[in-house]
This record gives sequence, C-alpha cells and structure tokens, in this order.
Amino acid sequence: MHDIVPADMACWHFLEAELRHAMAAYGYEEIRTPLVEKTALFERAIGDATDVVEKEMYSFEDRGGDHLSLRPEGTASVVRAALQNGLLYGGVQRLWYAGPMFRRERPQRGRTRQFHQLGVEAFGAPGPDIDAEIIALGTALWRKLGIADVRLEINSLGTAEERAEYRTAFRAFLEDRKDQLDEDSLRRLDRNPLRILDSKNPAVQAALDGAPQLPDYLGEESRAHFEGLLELLQELGVEYTVNPRLVRGLDYYCHSVFEWISNDLGAQGTICAGGRYDGLVEIQGGRPWPAVGFAMGLERIIELIRQVRECEATAPHAYLVLAGENAERAGLGLAERLRAELPGLRLVSNVGGGSFKAQFKRADKSGARVALVVGEDEVSNGTVTVKWLREDAPQETLEAARLKITLHELISA
Ligand code: ATP
Ligand code: MG
Repeated sequence: MHDIVPADMACWHFLEAELRHAMAAYGYEEIRTPLVEKTALFERAIGDATDVVEKEMYSFEDRGGDHLSLRPEGTASVVRAALQNGLLYGGVQRLWYAGPMFRRERPQRGRTRQFHQLGVEAFGAPGPDIDAEIIALGTALWRKLGIADVRLEINSLGTAEERAEYRTAFRAFLEDRKDQLDEDSLRRLDRNPLRILDSKNPAVQAALDGAPQLPDYLGEESRAHFEGLLELLQELGVEYTVNPRLVRGLDYYCHSVFEWISNDLGAQGTICAGGRYDGLVEIQGGRPWPAVGFAMGLERIIELIRQVRECEATAPHAYLVLAGENAERAGLGLAERLRAELPGLRLVSNVGGGSFKAQFKRADKSGARVALVVGEDEVSNGTVTVKWLREDAPQETLEAARLKITLHELISA
C-alpha cells in the first residue's frame, strides 16, 4: 500500500479533473459507497471461485461478530447501494464511482494492495448501444489524456446457458491435457475453468491451442448483440481486436466483455476492463435488470500520463516575509485580510521567524511569484513591499489599495 505524497498530487489532480469532465460529458452521476461491506456481499456478487474472493480480500470479524471486508472492487457495492436507495427501474441510470480498493495480492509493478479505481455502471439499457457508448467514453478519455499506445480487446461471453455448454466442451478438451496445466489452472479446472483462458502462463496458453472457442457457442440473440456492438464501434471509428479467449475474472458478466491494454506498462498492462453483467442485480436480491460497466486502474493510468507529460504543481502566488517583532505580530492578520479580500489568492505566510535571507530562501523554494515583505517601516506606514522572485522587475512599496490590484492581476494571470 502506497502513500501519495504532495509531489505526486499534481498528476492525480490532472487525472481526476479529466475524469470528472468525461463523466459529466456523458451524463454519469457520482455515487460514493463505504469502504467496508459485509463479506457476503462480495462472495455473492463476485463469486467464491474467483481469485478475489478465494485469496485476496481483507476480511475480518468486527466486535459485534459481523463478517466484513474492505472492498476489493466497486460494482458489488454500487449495485447494493442502487437497490437500497431506489435508484433502479426508472429508466436508464448512469453512475460512476472512484476510490481505493483493497486486494491482498503479490505486490509488483502495476499491482499493489491498495489501489484506486474509477468505474462507470449503466443500468437499465439492454442493447449494445450503451455498451458502445461506454467504450467510446473510454476511447475518448485515453485520447484526452494523451495515452496513445493502447489497444481494445473485445469478446462476447453469451448467456449463462451458452457459457455452461461451452464450459462442458472446454473442460472435456482440457481433461486430456492436464499434464500441460499449472497448479492454478488445475485448481480452476473444476470450479471455474473459463478462467484458464485468462492464464498469464505461456505454457498454459500453448496448451489451449485448438481448444473450442467461446464465440462458436453463441446463440442467435447473443450473436446479434455482439455484432450490433461491433458495427456501432466501426461507425464510431473505434478500433478493436476480437479476442475469443478474453474472459473476466468475475462471474457475473455476460455478453460484451472488453479490456484496454497498454504496451508501455510491462506485464500488468490492462488499464481498464469491463463488460455486461445483466445477472448481478438479481443475485443481489433485485428484479432482473440489465447493467454494463467498466473499472479502470488509476495508478497504471498515472504511470502512462507521466510518460507523456509533466504535471506541474500549483505554486502559491505569494510568500509573506515578516521582518521584526511588530511585523510578525501584524503578519497573520494581514494574511487573513488578503485571503478574505482576494478570492483565489494562494498565500503562504512565513512562520517560525528566521533571518531575511532564510525567509527569502523559503519564499524561493515555495515557488511563489512574489515575496510580500513587511518590516518595521511597512508596519508603521501601512504598506507592503513587493519583490518579484521569478522576473527581472523593480521592487515596489505599495499601499493597501495598490497591493490589492497587483495581487489581483497575479491571480488572474
Ligand atoms: P488481473 O487479471 O490482472 O488480476 P483483474 O481481473 O483482477 O485483473 P479488475 O478486477 O478487472 O482486474 O480490475 C480493473 C482494473 O483495476 C485492472 O485492469 C487494473 O488496471 C486495476 N487493478 C486491479 N487490481 C489491481 C492492483 N492490485 N493494483 C493496481 N491496479 C489494479
Ligand atoms: Mg486480479
């Protein structure tokens, strides 16, 4: 789990601002849910034969004997909250969330135990039009962020029945090739064989050559949904690759599944993954209701942003240098007045005394454009001396009204 320190913040704020813009541009509304939920919520929604539930959750019993977990993902909570707050069934509902998620996996590049996701969930729309909208949203976002070398992979999981039929055929195929599977895949063979398609082990992937393909098991309706989506993407000019081995680690998906993968992140290249999960609302105790969404890993996206741009921290406009006891006494009050009278002003006051030289060093380090100097003379005359720290301009001693104009110009620049 990592700290995000002030030097990292400019990049996070840049990303968060772009994400907010994108969400507003497509009519998504924010929802915030607790970081802790009943463990049973995730067991039911994610499925107990998944990595997340089997071995990654931070679960504990609280003092009242309730079994709780830190949320490993956002969708289960959003569905719970949407049901509890009566947000479903009145037409299409577009929601987004963002925040920390927790999974106890092996830490490595691109994989930490606390990480941040932003996710969107659209409820109430059964057709491929909303799938296409969500994919277009992601595509537009990468373009806006300057993330270029990213590819979209897409597949259809069909319905639960179609998948069950495929699972039988796929398992039969693997029964003869057990000796080529690794320990993880053998474990999955019984409980969740489709996850073997997702294996990152090249030897396992090689063993899958010639395996039955999921798309061949789709019925007419599933096929129409998938083809409808692909047509819309073509019309929008969104490039994609159909990957018949693409599945999701989470059990509630059906029909469309998709992932964006970057080549610039090493082994953990997936920056965003999603799909349709029409079955989940019912699993959570609601009337069946269509849903589609995605979740993106913000740390990985931050890493990509850093590769293409420098995010500059917001420096203060002014640093207040206070020389002498009287000035120190007057300083706090002056700073308060300036901030109150000049909305948007970023002003850092010197605290803890120090020589002129030491204070100017701090002023310089703060990144401020100007130092506002108050010494004995200024206190008795009611003036402030303005020293420009970043440009060659003469220092001026100003009365209050003139000072306000100068600072106002600085703020609006
Ligand atoms: P994987 O197969 O790589 O474990 P996943 O199926 O667990 O992926 P999702 O649950 O779909 O991943 O999460 C969506 C996105 O969140 C991922 O594509 C990734 O960008 C990010 N993510 C997931 N787990 C982590 C983690 N431990 N650290 C950082 N980012 C993560
Ligand atoms: Mg995982």
